[in-house]
Amino acid sequence: MHRLLAAAFIAATALPGWAQEVNIYSSRHYDTDEKLYLDFTEATGIEVNRIEGTTDELIARLKAEGRNSPADILLTVDAGRIWLADREGLLQPVQSDVLDSRVPAEFRHPDDHWFGFSTRARIIFHSKSRVPNPPRTYEALADPEWKGRVCIRSATDVYNLSLMSAIIAHDGEAGAAEWAKGVLDNLARPPEGADLDQLRGIISGQCDIAVVNTYYYARTLAENVDGISGESEDLAWVFPNQETTGTHVNIAAAGIVINSPNKENAVRFLEYLTTDQAQAYFANQNYEFPVVEGVKVSEIAASLGTFRRDTLNLSVLGENQPKAQEIFNAVGFP
Ligand code: FE
Repeated sequence: MHRLLAAAFIAATALPGWAQEVNIYSSRHYDTDEKLYLDFTEATGIEVNRIEGTTDELIARLKAEGRNSPADILLTVDAGRIWLADREGLLQPVQSDVLDSRVPAEFRHPDDHWFGFSTRARIIFHSKSRVPNPPRTYEALADPEWKGRVCIRSATDVYNLSLMSAIIAHDGEAGAAEWAKGVLDNLARPPEGADLDQLRGIISGQCDIAVVNTYYYARTLAENVDGISGESEDLAWVFPNQETTGTHVNIAAAGIVINSPNKENAVRFLEYLTTDQAQAYFANQNYEFPVVEGVKVSEIAASLGTFRRDTLNLSVLGENQPKAQEIFNAVGFP
């Protein structure tokens, strides 16, 4: 944190013109990102400084710093959040043929204010033994058949707001409200914990079905996750909506800050993130999927299987977010 501020200050005062650096505000918090930054510096000579925090903290900071902000890039882990930062006027359009050709259109802001660099899917997990015939769509989670059997984290969580935003886009507001009410009726327990806790709920027998992001489960295969790793023989999963709208996906996304002092370097960094090597690395750290076509998916992420994804432009996840919250509130979804 302190390192970045010091570096930016020196660059702005003592070394005008030739300090090559890029300042990243990141809500990713993987130690392994360090290697990504080092590789970039090695390839370009541009030093990477970063500040880490939650997206809300970083947005507040960018607003407080205003025109004096040293930030060049904002990096977040949900389309709804980067959309919000953009709506606050914190990002600027980026013209780059590399980004336009490498990042699929649905993972880019329509006017190139931000770009997705890895994807995660929000999917349905279930107990193999207790649910031999699981729901195959998000919509089916609301079927009365699953009364008292579904676990999902709180509706206030941005992952669920994003999922709801997609459901609004596909099924309309009335359909989405009915869905929320149906899922609420089907809950096995009041929403508690994060995604991993929903998987633990299936293992403990409290839940039969759960909604969870892919990388959480993948993590339990790669690392020792308490209460899940080694105990998940009865877990199975469905990539929902394969016959209809495709599985809901979200992105880790980045954009260039409105008053970026090192814009050229920032563009180079974003372009670097679309190289095959950086793509594989960026996605693999959190067991996600690369956005660039043809880049190899890690063995662990690949072990979940292939699927057809929803191709809704992810800016919709931001646009519909207030409505999503409203609908959850209206039906009393905690
Ligand atoms: Fe997460």
